[in-house]
Amino acid sequence: MASKQQSASDEEQRSNETTEPETALETARRQLEQAATHVDVDGAAIERLKHPAKVHEVTVPLERDDGSVDVFTGYRAQHDSVRGPYKGGLRYHPEVTRDECVGLSMWMTWKCAVMDLPFGGAKGGVVVDPKSLSDDEKERLTRRFTQEIRDVIGPTKDIPAPDMGTDPDTMAWIMDAYSMQEGETIPGVVTGKPPVVGGSYGREEAPGRSVAIVTRETCEYYDYPLSDTTVAVQGFGSVGANAARLLHEWGATVVAVSDVNGAIYDPDGIDVTAIPSHDEEPEAVTAYAAEAADDVTRISNADLLELDVDVLVPAAIGNVITADNADAIAADIVVEGANGPTTFAADAILEERGVHVIPDILANAGGVTVSYFEWLQDINRRKWSVERVHDELESEMVRAWSEIRDEVEERNVSWRDASYVVALSRVSDAHEARGLWP
Ligand code: GLU
Repeated sequence: MASKQQSASDEEQRSNETTEPETALETARRQLEQAATHVDVDGAAIERLKHPAKVHEVTVPLERDDGSVDVFTGYRAQHDSVRGPYKGGLRYHPEVTRDECVGLSMWMTWKCAVMDLPFGGAKGGVVVDPKSLSDDEKERLTRRFTQEIRDVIGPTKDIPAPDMGTDPDTMAWIMDAYSMQEGETIPGVVTGKPPVVGGSYGREEAPGRSVAIVTRETCEYYDYPLSDTTVAVQGFGSVGANAARLLHEWGATVVAVSDVNGAIYDPDGIDVTAIPSHDEEPEAVTAYAAEAADDVTRISNADLLELDVDVLVPAAIGNVITADNADAIAADIVVEGANGPTTFAADAILEERGVHVIPDILANAGGVTVSYFEWLQDINRRKWSVERVHDELESEMVRAWSEIRDEVEERNVSWRDASYVVALSRVSDAHEARGLWP
Protein backbone atom coordinates (compact mmCIF):
# COMPACT_ATOMS: atom_id res chain seq x y z
CA MET A 1 0.00 0.00 0.00
CA ALA A 2 1.35 3.43 -0.85
CA SER A 3 1.84 6.07 1.75
CA LYS A 4 -1.47 7.85 2.44
CA GLN A 5 -1.64 11.57 2.90
CA GLN A 6 -3.54 12.67 6.00
CA SER A 7 -6.54 14.83 5.17
CA ALA A 8 -6.14 17.55 7.76
CA SER A 9 -2.71 18.71 8.88
CA ASP A 10 -1.78 18.42 12.55
CA GLU A 11 -1.76 22.20 12.71
CA GLU A 12 -5.43 22.35 11.62
CA GLN A 13 -6.36 19.53 13.98
CA ARG A 14 -4.76 21.29 16.91
CA SER A 15 -6.69 24.49 16.27
CA ASN A 16 -9.96 22.53 16.25
CA GLU A 17 -9.35 21.07 19.69
CA THR A 18 -10.73 22.66 22.82
CA THR A 19 -7.52 23.28 24.67
CA GLU A 20 -7.49 23.04 28.41
CA PRO A 21 -6.15 26.12 30.16
CA GLU A 22 -3.54 24.27 32.21
CA THR A 23 0.01 25.58 32.42
CA ALA A 24 2.99 23.48 33.46
CA LEU A 25 2.99 25.41 36.74
CA GLU A 26 -0.67 24.61 37.45
CA THR A 27 -0.13 20.94 36.64
CA ALA A 28 3.00 20.79 38.82
CA ARG A 29 1.22 22.49 41.75
CA ARG A 30 -1.82 20.22 41.55
CA GLN A 31 0.40 17.15 41.40
CA LEU A 32 2.28 18.38 44.49
CA GLU A 33 -0.96 19.01 46.40
CA GLN A 34 -2.20 15.53 45.54
CA ALA A 35 1.11 13.91 46.52
CA ALA A 36 1.08 15.83 49.81
CA THR A 37 -2.05 13.90 50.84
CA HIS A 38 0.03 10.71 50.87
CA VAL A 39 2.95 11.92 52.98
CA ASP A 40 3.29 13.39 56.43
CA VAL A 41 4.78 16.76 55.47
CA ASP A 42 4.04 20.01 57.19
CA GLY A 43 1.70 22.35 55.25
CA ALA A 44 4.16 25.26 55.35
CA ALA A 45 6.83 23.07 53.73
CA ILE A 46 4.41 22.18 50.92
CA GLU A 47 3.47 25.83 50.48
CA ARG A 48 7.14 26.72 50.18
CA LEU A 49 7.69 24.02 47.53
CA LYS A 50 4.80 25.39 45.46
CA HIS A 51 6.96 28.45 44.77
CA PRO A 52 10.38 28.85 43.17
CA ALA A 53 13.25 30.15 45.31
CA LYS A 54 14.13 32.65 42.55
CA VAL A 55 13.19 33.48 38.97
CA HIS A 56 15.64 35.51 36.90
CA GLU A 57 14.31 37.37 33.88
CA VAL A 58 16.80 38.88 31.44
CA THR A 59 16.73 40.85 28.21
CA VAL A 60 18.88 39.45 25.44
CA PRO A 61 19.69 41.73 22.51
CA LEU A 62 20.85 39.98 19.34
CA GLU A 63 22.54 41.41 16.29
CA ARG A 64 21.01 39.61 13.31
CA ASP A 65 23.07 38.58 10.31
CA ASP A 66 21.74 41.60 8.38
CA GLY A 67 22.99 44.02 11.05
CA SER A 68 19.61 44.79 12.63
CA VAL A 69 19.05 44.17 16.35
CA ASP A 70 16.23 42.12 17.88
CA VAL A 71 15.52 41.84 21.58
CA PHE A 72 14.50 38.59 23.29
CA THR A 73 13.45 37.63 26.81
CA GLY A 74 15.19 34.86 28.76
CA TYR A 75 14.43 33.17 32.07
CA ARG A 76 16.11 30.98 34.64
CA ALA A 77 13.75 29.62 37.28
CA GLN A 78 15.45 28.09 40.34
CA HIS A 79 13.00 26.07 42.38
CA ASP A 80 14.80 24.36 45.23
CA SER A 81 18.44 23.67 46.13
CA VAL A 82 18.18 21.94 49.50
CA ARG A 83 19.83 18.75 48.13
CA GLY A 84 22.48 20.42 45.95
CA PRO A 85 23.02 22.91 43.12
CA TYR A 86 20.07 23.81 40.92
CA LYS A 87 19.96 21.63 37.80
CA GLY A 88 17.89 21.59 34.63
CA GLY A 89 17.64 22.38 30.95
CA LEU A 90 17.40 25.52 28.87
CA ARG A 91 14.83 25.62 26.10
CA TYR A 92 14.61 27.85 23.05
CA HIS A 93 10.97 27.92 22.07
CA PRO A 94 8.49 30.66 21.08
CA GLU A 95 6.09 29.60 23.84
CA VAL A 96 8.54 29.73 26.75
CA THR A 97 7.00 31.69 29.64
CA ARG A 98 7.97 32.45 33.21
CA ASP A 99 5.30 30.08 34.54
CA GLU A 100 6.35 27.28 32.21
CA CYS A 101 9.95 27.59 33.44
CA VAL A 102 8.76 27.54 37.06
CA GLY A 103 6.59 24.44 36.53
CA LEU A 104 9.41 22.67 34.71
CA SER A 105 11.88 23.67 37.44
CA MET A 106 9.61 22.02 40.04
CA TRP A 107 9.62 18.82 38.00
CA MET A 108 13.44 18.94 37.94
CA THR A 109 13.51 19.09 41.77
CA TRP A 110 11.38 15.94 41.93
CA LYS A 111 13.25 14.22 39.10
CA CYS A 112 16.63 14.70 40.78
CA ALA A 113 15.18 13.54 44.10
CA VAL A 114 13.53 10.45 42.52
CA MET A 115 16.97 9.50 41.18
CA ASP A 116 18.60 10.48 44.52
CA LEU A 117 21.01 12.85 42.74
CA PRO A 118 22.66 15.62 44.79
CA PHE A 119 20.91 18.37 42.80
CA GLY A 120 17.92 20.67 43.09
CA GLY A 121 15.64 21.83 40.29
CA ALA A 122 15.85 24.63 37.73
CA LYS A 123 14.72 25.38 34.19
CA GLY A 124 15.12 28.27 31.84
CA GLY A 125 14.98 29.38 28.30
CA VAL A 126 14.65 32.08 25.73
CA VAL A 127 11.38 33.05 24.06
CA VAL A 128 12.52 32.48 20.48
CA ASP A 129 11.80 30.16 17.59
CA PRO A 130 15.20 28.51 17.05
CA LYS A 131 14.23 27.72 13.45
CA SER A 132 14.19 31.48 12.78
CA LEU A 133 17.88 31.80 13.76
CA SER A 134 20.94 31.09 11.63
CA ASP A 135 23.70 29.09 13.36
CA ASP A 136 25.69 32.29 13.90
CA GLU A 137 22.67 34.06 15.37
CA LYS A 138 21.98 31.12 17.69
CA GLU A 139 25.57 31.24 18.89
CA ARG A 140 25.49 35.02 19.51
CA LEU A 141 22.13 34.74 21.32
CA THR A 142 23.47 31.92 23.49
CA ARG A 143 26.65 33.76 24.41
CA ARG A 144 24.76 36.93 25.36
CA PHE A 145 22.13 34.97 27.32
CA THR A 146 24.97 33.23 29.20
CA GLN A 147 26.46 36.61 30.06
CA GLU A 148 23.07 37.82 31.37
CA ILE A 149 22.65 34.81 33.69
CA ARG A 150 26.36 34.37 34.47
CA ASP A 151 26.10 35.49 38.09
CA VAL A 152 23.44 32.93 38.94
CA ILE A 153 24.90 29.82 37.25
CA GLY A 154 28.07 27.88 37.99
CA PRO A 155 29.23 24.32 38.68
CA THR A 156 28.26 24.53 42.35
CA LYS A 157 25.31 26.93 41.91
CA ASP A 158 23.15 26.05 38.92
CA ILE A 159 24.09 23.78 36.03
CA PRO A 160 22.10 24.14 32.78
CA ALA A 161 21.69 21.38 30.19
CA PRO A 162 19.97 20.86 26.82
CA ASP A 163 16.21 20.85 26.45
CA MET A 164 13.81 21.63 23.56
CA GLY A 165 15.55 23.70 20.87
CA THR A 166 19.05 23.49 22.42
CA ASP A 167 21.75 20.88 21.87
CA PRO A 168 25.40 19.98 22.62
CA ASP A 169 26.65 22.89 20.45
CA THR A 170 24.57 25.31 22.53
CA MET A 171 26.12 23.86 25.71
CA ALA A 172 29.64 24.23 24.28
CA TRP A 173 28.97 27.95 23.63
CA ILE A 174 27.65 28.41 27.18
CA MET A 175 30.70 26.65 28.60
CA ASP A 176 33.00 28.81 26.47
CA ALA A 177 31.24 32.12 27.21
CA TYR A 178 31.20 31.39 30.95
CA SER A 179 34.80 30.18 31.01
CA MET A 180 36.13 33.16 29.03
CA GLN A 181 34.54 35.57 31.50
CA GLU A 182 35.73 33.62 34.54
CA GLY A 183 39.26 33.39 33.14
CA GLU A 184 39.52 29.61 33.39
CA THR A 185 38.02 26.56 31.68
CA ILE A 186 35.06 25.41 33.76
CA PRO A 187 33.42 22.44 32.00
CA GLY A 188 31.16 21.63 34.98
CA VAL A 189 29.04 24.76 34.45
CA VAL A 190 26.84 22.93 31.94
CA THR A 191 26.14 19.32 31.02
CA GLY A 192 25.18 17.81 27.69
CA LYS A 193 28.33 19.22 26.04
CA PRO A 194 30.10 17.52 23.14
CA PRO A 195 32.51 14.89 24.58
CA VAL A 196 35.52 16.78 23.17
CA VAL A 197 34.95 19.62 25.68
CA GLY A 198 34.07 17.54 28.73
CA GLY A 199 30.72 16.10 27.67
CA SER A 200 29.86 12.55 28.65
CA TYR A 201 29.56 9.73 26.17
CA GLY A 202 25.99 8.46 26.16
CA ARG A 203 24.47 11.76 27.40
CA GLU A 204 22.51 12.57 24.25
CA GLU A 205 20.74 9.24 24.11
CA ALA A 206 20.30 8.97 27.89
CA PRO A 207 16.71 10.26 28.26
CA GLY A 208 15.54 7.91 25.49
CA ARG A 209 17.54 5.06 27.00
CA SER A 210 15.91 5.59 30.39
CA VAL A 211 12.45 5.67 28.76
CA ALA A 212 13.27 2.32 27.14
CA ILE A 213 14.60 0.80 30.39
CA VAL A 214 11.56 1.92 32.36
CA THR A 215 9.23 0.65 29.61
CA ARG A 216 10.99 -2.74 29.65
CA GLU A 217 10.74 -3.04 33.46
CA THR A 218 7.08 -1.95 33.49
CA CYS A 219 6.12 -4.34 30.67
CA GLU A 220 7.79 -7.20 32.49
CA TYR A 221 6.02 -6.26 35.73
CA TYR A 222 2.57 -6.18 34.12
CA ASP A 223 3.30 -9.32 32.11
CA TYR A 224 3.68 -7.87 28.62
CA PRO A 225 6.66 -9.74 27.12
CA LEU A 226 8.47 -7.21 24.91
CA SER A 227 8.38 -9.61 21.96
CA ASP A 228 4.55 -9.41 22.03
CA THR A 229 4.31 -5.73 22.85
CA THR A 230 3.27 -2.96 20.47
CA VAL A 231 4.53 0.58 21.03
CA ALA A 232 3.61 4.00 19.58
CA VAL A 233 6.10 6.81 20.06
CA GLN A 234 5.14 10.46 19.56
CA GLY A 235 8.18 12.56 18.63
CA PHE A 236 11.42 11.43 17.03
CA GLY A 237 13.88 13.75 18.75
CA SER A 238 16.59 12.56 21.10
CA VAL A 239 14.05 11.08 23.54
CA GLY A 240 11.60 9.47 21.10
CA ALA A 241 14.10 8.19 18.54
CA ASN A 242 16.45 6.63 21.09
CA ALA A 243 13.59 5.06 23.04
CA ALA A 244 12.02 3.67 19.84
CA ARG A 245 15.33 2.28 18.55
CA LEU A 246 16.21 0.55 21.82
CA LEU A 247 12.74 -0.94 22.27
CA HIS A 248 12.89 -2.19 18.67
CA GLU A 249 16.34 -3.68 19.37
CA TRP A 250 14.99 -5.38 22.51
CA GLY A 251 12.22 -7.05 20.52
CA ALA A 252 9.19 -4.77 20.87
CA THR A 253 7.15 -3.88 17.77
CA VAL A 254 7.17 -0.13 17.23
CA VAL A 255 4.05 0.43 15.14
CA ALA A 256 3.97 4.24 14.98
CA VAL A 257 6.37 7.18 15.22
CA SER A 258 5.94 10.85 14.39
CA ASP A 259 7.52 14.23 13.82
CA VAL A 260 5.99 17.71 13.95
CA ASN A 261 4.27 17.23 10.57
CA GLY A 262 2.46 14.01 11.39
CA ALA A 263 2.84 10.31 12.15
CA ILE A 264 3.33 7.03 10.32
CA TYR A 265 1.68 3.76 11.27
CA ASP A 266 2.34 0.17 10.30
CA PRO A 267 0.66 -2.54 12.41
CA ASP A 268 3.46 -4.98 11.43
CA GLY A 269 6.13 -2.70 12.84
CA ILE A 270 8.39 0.02 11.50
CA ASP A 271 12.14 -0.36 11.08
CA VAL A 272 12.91 2.68 13.22
CA THR A 273 16.66 2.25 12.69
CA ALA A 274 16.12 3.29 9.04
CA ILE A 275 14.68 6.71 9.98
CA PRO A 276 17.04 9.55 10.98
CA SER A 277 16.21 11.20 14.31
CA HIS A 278 15.23 14.87 14.47
CA ASP A 279 18.79 15.76 15.50
CA GLU A 280 20.25 13.83 12.56
CA GLU A 281 17.74 15.21 10.04
CA PRO A 282 14.73 17.27 11.13
CA GLU A 283 11.27 16.06 10.12
CA ALA A 284 12.64 12.84 8.65
CA VAL A 285 9.70 10.67 9.75
CA THR A 286 7.24 12.24 7.36
CA ALA A 287 9.92 12.56 4.67
CA TYR A 288 10.52 8.80 5.04
CA ALA A 289 6.79 8.17 4.62
CA ALA A 290 6.66 10.31 1.51
CA GLU A 291 9.68 8.70 -0.15
CA ALA A 292 10.12 5.14 0.79
CA ALA A 293 7.67 3.39 2.87
CA ASP A 294 5.47 0.57 1.70
CA ASP A 295 2.65 -0.42 3.99
CA VAL A 296 3.04 2.74 5.98
CA THR A 297 -0.07 4.82 6.60
CA ARG A 298 0.14 8.52 7.27
CA ILE A 299 -1.91 9.50 10.32
CA SER A 300 -1.97 12.63 12.44
CA ASN A 301 -0.15 13.11 15.72
CA ALA A 302 -3.53 13.21 17.46
CA ASP A 303 -4.46 9.82 15.93
CA LEU A 304 -1.15 8.31 17.03
CA LEU A 305 -2.06 9.01 20.66
CA GLU A 306 -5.29 7.03 20.30
CA LEU A 307 -3.87 3.94 18.57
CA ASP A 308 -4.76 0.59 20.08
CA VAL A 309 -1.26 -0.31 21.27
CA ASP A 310 0.12 -1.78 24.49
CA VAL A 311 2.46 1.10 25.24
CA LEU A 312 2.19 4.77 24.30
CA VAL A 313 5.27 6.98 24.66
CA PRO A 314 4.45 10.71 24.30
CA ALA A 315 7.96 12.10 23.73
CA ALA A 316 7.37 15.34 21.86
CA ILE A 317 5.85 18.26 23.79
CA GLY A 318 3.80 18.96 26.93
CA ASN A 319 0.00 18.86 27.36
CA VAL A 320 -0.81 16.37 24.58
CA ILE A 321 -2.97 14.08 26.73
CA THR A 322 -5.78 16.28 28.03
CA ALA A 323 -9.33 15.84 29.34
CA ASP A 324 -10.40 16.03 25.68
CA ASN A 325 -8.64 12.84 24.56
CA ALA A 326 -7.87 10.90 27.77
CA ASP A 327 -10.95 8.71 27.30
CA ALA A 328 -9.75 7.79 23.82
CA ILE A 329 -6.25 6.67 24.85
CA ALA A 330 -6.31 2.95 24.08
CA ALA A 331 -2.84 2.01 25.39
CA ASP A 332 -2.59 0.06 28.66
CA ILE A 333 0.69 1.69 29.65
CA VAL A 334 1.76 5.30 29.03
CA VAL A 335 5.45 6.11 29.52
CA GLU A 336 6.05 9.87 29.59
CA GLY A 337 9.10 10.69 27.48
CA ALA A 338 8.35 14.43 27.27
CA ASN A 339 8.08 16.64 30.34
CA GLY A 340 4.45 17.16 31.33
CA PRO A 341 2.65 15.46 28.42
CA THR A 342 -0.40 14.64 30.60
CA THR A 343 -2.54 17.31 32.22
CA PHE A 344 -3.74 16.84 35.79
CA ALA A 345 -7.33 16.32 34.63
CA ALA A 346 -6.27 13.74 32.03
CA ASP A 347 -4.19 11.91 34.61
CA ALA A 348 -7.25 11.40 36.82
CA ILE A 349 -9.21 9.99 33.86
CA LEU A 350 -6.40 7.60 32.92
CA GLU A 351 -6.04 6.43 36.52
CA GLU A 352 -9.76 5.79 36.79
CA ARG A 353 -9.60 3.79 33.54
CA GLY A 354 -6.76 1.64 34.91
CA VAL A 355 -4.10 2.93 32.50
CA HIS A 356 -0.65 2.78 34.11
CA VAL A 357 1.12 6.11 33.60
CA ILE A 358 4.87 6.05 34.26
CA PRO A 359 5.65 9.71 34.97
CA ASP A 360 8.24 11.92 33.29
CA ILE A 361 10.09 12.50 36.57
CA LEU A 362 11.05 8.82 36.52
CA ALA A 363 10.88 7.83 32.84
CA ASN A 364 13.06 10.49 31.22
CA ALA A 365 15.32 10.97 34.27
CA GLY A 366 18.18 9.23 32.43
CA GLY A 367 19.06 12.63 30.94
CA VAL A 368 19.79 14.33 34.22
CA THR A 369 21.33 11.14 35.64
CA VAL A 370 23.95 11.09 32.88
CA SER A 371 24.28 14.86 33.39
CA TYR A 372 25.31 13.99 36.94
CA PHE A 373 27.83 11.46 35.59
CA GLU A 374 29.11 14.21 33.26
CA TRP A 375 29.46 16.67 36.14
CA LEU A 376 31.44 14.07 38.14
CA GLN A 377 33.69 13.45 35.11
CA ASP A 378 34.23 17.22 34.73
CA ILE A 379 35.12 17.71 38.38
CA ASN A 380 37.47 14.73 38.34
CA ARG A 381 38.83 15.53 34.85
CA ARG A 382 38.43 11.84 34.04
CA LYS A 383 36.28 10.41 31.26
CA TRP A 384 34.11 7.33 31.57
CA SER A 385 33.69 4.84 28.71
CA VAL A 386 30.29 4.67 27.05
CA GLU A 387 29.95 1.11 28.44
CA ARG A 388 30.40 2.41 31.98
CA VAL A 389 27.83 5.18 31.38
CA HIS A 390 25.29 2.65 30.02
CA ASP A 391 25.93 0.20 32.89
CA GLU A 392 25.64 2.80 35.62
CA LEU A 393 22.54 4.32 34.02
CA GLU A 394 20.96 0.86 33.77
CA SER A 395 21.52 0.14 37.45
CA GLU A 396 20.41 3.62 38.62
CA MET A 397 17.20 3.41 36.56
CA VAL A 398 16.34 -0.10 37.72
CA ARG A 399 17.02 0.89 41.35
CA ALA A 400 14.81 4.00 41.11
CA TRP A 401 12.07 2.12 39.23
CA SER A 402 12.08 -0.62 41.91
CA GLU A 403 11.84 1.91 44.74
CA ILE A 404 8.80 3.48 43.08
CA ARG A 405 7.26 0.05 42.40
CA ASP A 406 7.56 -0.73 46.14
CA GLU A 407 5.59 2.45 46.92
CA VAL A 408 2.98 1.61 44.26
CA GLU A 409 2.50 -1.79 45.90
CA GLU A 410 2.61 -0.63 49.53
CA ARG A 411 0.37 2.41 49.20
CA ASN A 412 -1.77 1.29 46.28
CA VAL A 413 -1.25 4.59 44.49
CA SER A 414 -0.46 5.57 40.91
CA TRP A 415 3.12 5.54 39.62
CA ARG A 416 3.07 9.34 39.59
CA ASP A 417 1.93 9.62 43.20
CA ALA A 418 4.46 6.98 44.23
CA SER A 419 7.25 8.92 42.48
CA TYR A 420 6.15 12.12 44.19
CA VAL A 421 6.04 10.38 47.57
CA VAL A 422 9.66 9.27 47.17
CA ALA A 423 10.82 12.67 45.89
CA LEU A 424 8.85 14.77 48.33
CA SER A 425 9.99 12.72 51.32
CA ARG A 426 13.65 13.16 50.31
CA VAL A 427 13.28 16.91 49.70
CA SER A 428 11.22 17.61 52.83
CA ASP A 429 13.52 15.49 55.03
CA ALA A 430 16.45 17.54 53.76
CA HIS A 431 14.61 20.78 54.54
CA GLU A 432 13.80 19.53 58.01
CA ALA A 433 17.37 18.46 58.68
CA ARG A 434 18.82 21.77 57.48
CA GLY A 435 16.14 23.91 59.16
CA LEU A 436 14.86 27.32 58.15
CA TRP A 437 17.42 30.11 57.87
CA PRO A 438 17.72 32.51 59.64
N1 GLU B 1 16.31 18.93 30.11
C1 GLU B 1 16.47 17.62 30.62
C2 GLU B 1 15.31 17.23 31.51
O1 GLU B 1 14.25 17.79 31.41
C3 GLU B 1 17.82 17.39 31.27
C4 GLU B 1 18.14 18.20 32.45
C5 GLU B 1 19.59 18.06 32.89
O2 GLU B 1 20.30 17.19 32.43
O3 GLU B 1 19.98 18.89 33.72
O4 GLU B 1 15.39 16.32 32.27
